[in-house]
Amino acid sequence: MSRSFEEIYPVREDYKRFHQRDTAFGRAGRAGLTGYGDPAKRLAKIRLGIPGFTVVDYAFSGAALTVAQASGSGRGNMDSGFYSWTPLGVARLPEGVSPWKGSPKEAAIIVRKAGRYYGACDVGFCELDRRWVYSHTSDGRSIVFEDVEEGYIDEERAVIPESHRWVIAVTVPMEVEEIMYSPTALNPVSSMGYSRMPAVAGSIAEFIRGLGYHAIPCGNDTALSVPIAVQAGLGHVGRHGRLITWKDGPMVRIAKIFTDLPLAPSSMAPEGIIEYCEVCKKCAKHCPSQSIPSGPRTYEGFSEANNPGVLKWYCNADTCYEYWRQIGTGCSICFRVCSFTKEKGLIHDVIKWFIRNVPQLNRLWAWTDDLFGYGKMRDPSEYWGTFRPAE
Ligand code: SF4
Ligand code: SF4
Repeated sequence: MSRSFEEIYPVREDYKRFHQRDTAFGRAGRAGLTGYGDPAKRLAKIRLGIPGFTVVDYAFSGAALTVAQASGSGRGNMDSGFYSWTPLGVARLPEGVSPWKGSPKEAAIIVRKAGRYYGACDVGFCELDRRWVYSHTSDGRSIVFEDVEEGYIDEERAVIPESHRWVIAVTVPMEVEEIMYSPTALNPVSSMGYSRMPAVAGSIAEFIRGLGYHAIPCGNDTALSVPIAVQAGLGHVGRHGRLITWKDGPMVRIAKIFTDLPLAPSSMAPEGIIEYCEVCKKCAKHCPSQSIPSGPRTYEGFSEANNPGVLKWYCNADTCYEYWRQIGTGCSICFRVCSFTKEKGLIHDVIKWFIRNVPQLNRLWAWTDDLFGYGKMRDPSEYWGTFRPAE
């Protein structure tokens, strides 16, 4: 029998909800540090014509954020753009028609099918666990639950209706090919993920509204995405602290939608990922800032940026972000080298079967992963084919 969420992801009783101002980005901003996309560093690299940092490469990765940015959704702009808490009016329940009536199981079937159509890799469901909802927004508004019909945000508070007892966790894809050029400006995958998240989450929210129910779509805002995704059966937390799914490895971004449409909870993802990470340690070895631990899972983080109290591997978000600031771009090396970052294929599916069923062979797979050179950085001067932007 498979283990429950609480057994796989134990949470201490003194666990406290996370204040969003304490992300590494928020902490660096409060300390007066500049962001990681320093224009002076960018200009210097463009002028030097370094492959992976040409004007073409920067334009490519910059434009990947178009949908997120131009729609006002951003990486998780609460109640903004496609993450609007109020209906966008795109799909409406026709007047005189009653809200759709179906069982939670049927609701899960139609929402999953619709979500996949809108562009999700996977869609999972769980009851809303308030522990994962931020205690406060990044600008200090408290996030509370009240008996209201529709969620709203005012000067002091973000109010989630008590009726929104279910969460839909959604993964959207990031590409394996482009992650292999990390850490350069030739890596648009996070930005592209941020553009896909609001398109998919916003469309699912409108679908639910069109059924006559309420929905609050979120990106990185409002709640921690990884534990919700684990609880909704999409995967497990890897050593690098990211979600790892069986189908797409860590190459996904996560959005979520709170709703009053009752949904049947998904089963937990098959086990085996944590056990593999226990022996692999490849991300810890390759992390240039030594932010990923090589020891066992713990309940303690490194700083306020890691909310302690959950048994997992904590990535040191402060030192990771400091490295981004040093190099002037995002890093993503841990995504690149992860043993679960693979193009789709039968051989990889067979190995994943062994990881799930014969963990005694995990060391062999971790060894061969290095042996076959998986996760090596590709030469950025080859990305555009015969055309060389630097020339
Ligand atoms: S993004 Fe880079 S610096 Fe940060 S944890 Fe991953 S490998 Fe380390
Ligand atoms: S590189 Fe290895 S240890 Fe790190 S998250 Fe991936 S599978 Fe786990």
